[in-house]
Amino acid sequence: MVVIDAAHGGDDAGASILGQGGQPEPEKAYTLALSVKLRSLLTARGISVVTTRESDVTLDAAQRAEIADRAQAQACLSLHASMNGAGVHLFISSLAPVEGGNFAPWKTAQAAWVSRSVALAGVLNSALLHAGLTVSLGRTALTAIDSMTCPAVAVEVAPQRGNGKDSGASLDDPAYQTTVADALAAAMLEWRAEGAQP
Ligand SMILES: [Zn+2]
Repeated sequence: MVVIDAAHGGDDAGASILGQGGQPEPEKAYTLALSVKLRSLLTARGISVVTTRESDVTLDAAQRAEIADRAQAQACLSLHASMNGAGVHLFISSLAPVEGGNFAPWKTAQAAWVSRSVALAGVLNSALLHAGLTVSLGRTALTAIDSMTCPAVAVEVAPQRGNGKDSGASLDDPAYQTTVADALAAAMLEWRAEGAQP
């Protein structure tokens, strides 16, 4: 079971994303399109998916975390897009890891899962690098993820910038979107295989 969280939505448009032609698209639409694409790739591979939203609705961080926690997911990917930086940025919670706590306050529930989230980010990192993408890893305060009781990573897609002559792929390049979605799906298969090991 994987939870896909298309960040933003409804009243919260997120960042403004510029496509190749220069026409702006709200981040909320980009993340929803990526969520739909990734869900179909995962379900085709026999992985159950729960999404936090299927349309342009407003969801707060608590509602997103509730959906993820109710699903008891093996992984949660929170999808963002940005014009800053290059390639795919992976973020995990900046909470200090807490091991084996039976009681976790809601707002810092992710603390008990940080080490698993680091492992999940590692699997995502490998799959994205394998697909030839630029990847960066970081830690940050993430209100939705900080309340999630599952391995959780924020995946922020930025334009893939090339070197020299190659200008790289813009965010709205369908081939680039497919490469990213395929790599994320491959990572989830790998994650499932690792989870099945004793
Ligand atoms: Zn965002």
